[in-house]
Amino acid sequence: MHAMDIAVIGAGLAGISAAKALTDAGHQVVLFDKSRGSGGRMSSKRTEYGDMDMGAQYFTARDHHFRHELKHWLDQGWVAEWQPALFIHDQDGLRPSQDEQQRFVGAPRMTALSRGLLEGLKLVTETRIIQLQQQGDKAWELIDEQQQVHGPFDRIVVAAPAPQAVPLLEPAVHLAQAAAQIDMEPGWALAVSFAEPLDTPVEACFVRSGCLDWISRNSSKPGRTGNADNWVLQATPAWSREHIDTDKEEIIQLMLASFSKVMGFNLPAANFVHAHRWLYARPSADAQWGALAAPEKGIYACGDWCMGGRMENAWLSGRQAAHALLGLR
Ligand SMILES: Cc1cc2nc3c(=O)[nH]c(=O)nc-3n(C[C@H](O)[C@H](O)[C@H](O)COP(=O)(O)OP(=O)(O)OC[C@H]3O[C@@H](n4cnc5c(N)ncnc54)[C@H](O)[C@@H]3O)c2cc1C
Repeated sequence: MHAMDIAVIGAGLAGISAAKALTDAGHQVVLFDKSRGSGGRMSSKRTEYGDMDMGAQYFTARDHHFRHELKHWLDQGWVAEWQPALFIHDQDGLRPSQDEQQRFVGAPRMTALSRGLLEGLKLVTETRIIQLQQQGDKAWELIDEQQQVHGPFDRIVVAAPAPQAVPLLEPAVHLAQAAAQIDMEPGWALAVSFAEPLDTPVEACFVRSGCLDWISRNSSKPGRTGNADNWVLQATPAWSREHIDTDKEEIIQLMLASFSKVMGFNLPAANFVHAHRWLYARPSADAQWGALAAPEKGIYACGDWCMGGRMENAWLSGRQAAHALLGLR
């Protein structure tokens, strides 16, 4: 196969995975992302009290291809295993979890992974692509929101979350229709930092009561430096949807009140608190597509929404899109 020019729209884990597989196969790949950085929902907020993971909290590795890749990431030092003191909180209160799942995180922050993976890849940031436009018989151009034209490209991989992928996939109608079926749930996330460590053994907690569904002691993750006690709280999808337009100050009060209830004590004053609203946090159900392909158009789509809302699936989906493009399946 001759070397092709390929555009990948979205530099989250799915897009990076696709870009890497296509580059390794000898093609010229350019990644585009609307954000200032990369990593998408693997996101870390930099604060003067330390970096906090506001999106994906950790990842699991079940698939053998993914486990093989993980070994490389561990060797590179981009990720490390996280073994938190894990608890469950439900109507019976707080108790240690028996869960033996292995968990991994980017180190020293979640985005260390995307940063590592992007080495040697070409990334164009702060460029929101709004349309694919066919130029001549085969080649595609990308139009960004400033009406700048990028390309031409022989192939396009759309690696944006489903709702953002739909308009881009319009030239491949059945792909756009598939993406339009996907419902993505919103999620409020809160970062909070205390000067003194909270008096609790909890380092992570699945919450099954109130507005929260997850609590993690960010400071307990490997490589996180500094003396502050940093926590990240996540609200349930249902509560987040109900409070989608609620003022951030009120969200902060409500989520901190739930945190205090789970911990069973009053919280000290925080040094820092920040609420982030994810409009498209995770797909509400798992799909079975792996990746989507319209080879006759040269358009492919991938993302966690093609498999299920986890980092591992995003990586696998990107790899599958690349393999479909390369004719490997
Ligand atoms: C709060 C939260 C907690 C989570 N917790 C976990 C967890 O603990 N474990 C786990 O495995 N997973 C977790 N996830 C899910 C995990 O983060 C995702 O499954 C995974 O990161 C998705 O990767 P992706 O590449 O498919 O999409 P994304 O990471 O969303 O990447 C898509 C990229 O496309 C870009 N983009 C979108 N539209 C355009 C456009 N028009 N032009 C250019 N660029 C565009 C975006 O800026 C983004 O960078 C969590 C997610 C959230 C939000």
